[in-house]
Amino acid sequence: MQDYVLKQNRKRLVVELQTKGILHEGVLAAILKVPRHLFVDSALWHLAYQDRVLPIGSNQTISHPSTVAYQTQLLNPQPNEKILEIGLGSGYQAAILCEMGCEVYSIERNEGLWKRANQILPQVVVKVPVNKCDDGYEGWAEYAPFDGILVTAGASELPPKLLAQLKIGGRMIIPVAPTEMQNEAATFEKSISEERQYRMYRVIRLSETEYETEDVGAFAFVPFLKGIV
Ligand code: SAH
Repeated sequence: MQDYVLKQNRKRLVVELQTKGILHEGVLAAILKVPRHLFVDSALWHLAYQDRVLPIGSNQTISHPSTVAYQTQLLNPQPNEKILEIGLGSGYQAAILCEMGCEVYSIERNEGLWKRANQILPQVVVKVPVNKCDDGYEGWAEYAPFDGILVTAGASELPPKLLAQLKIGGRMIIPVAPTEMQNEAATFEKSISEERQYRMYRVIRLSETEYETEDVGAFAFVPFLKGIV
């Protein structure tokens, strides 16, 4: 596909996101700049700027652009803030955070995806996020505390180690299974590719021991799984 067509499509996506409530200028500017198509197979480039989920291999998906934009808008990252992403996946969300001037750290449990993201990211961002293939449930103590933590897979609870790795005043954006789904955790952990509806939480660390949790709506995600593959 021609470059100017992809650029045109990207501009159209930004307008669509504005109609869907994304008003954060930094987020919109980053979406306009980052070539989402490079994170998916070239056979899917014509779909890369539609507001839809796309496969990235290993039964995983790159989230809806509106979900990426919404999570980033909620996080409201500032330049030079230290942000930890859980679920590097294709690398697209991490590239958006880099474009916004953040110091980005990311963890991906799937080795194939992790390798692929590390081939694409240097083509897209000036400074590749510090990243590793590991279980994000543990967070990244070596680089903690973080100003922000962004979880891009649906968790069954608020992971205690991630909460502990937030700075005071830091925030975490995380999709969490609604209570009725938590009871069937054993079954949904098996269906790794299945998208489910999660509640999106914004957690703010108020002090050493206090956190404020706000439920900001329902979103579809693939599950956050323990261990690496
Ligand atoms: N941020 C990604 C979205 C990927 S989908 C993007 O922009 O493309 C969610 C990702 O979370 C998947 O790649 C999945 O493998 C990963 N994941 C799930 N559980 C995880 C865990 N415990 N630790 C690290 N990554 C995990």
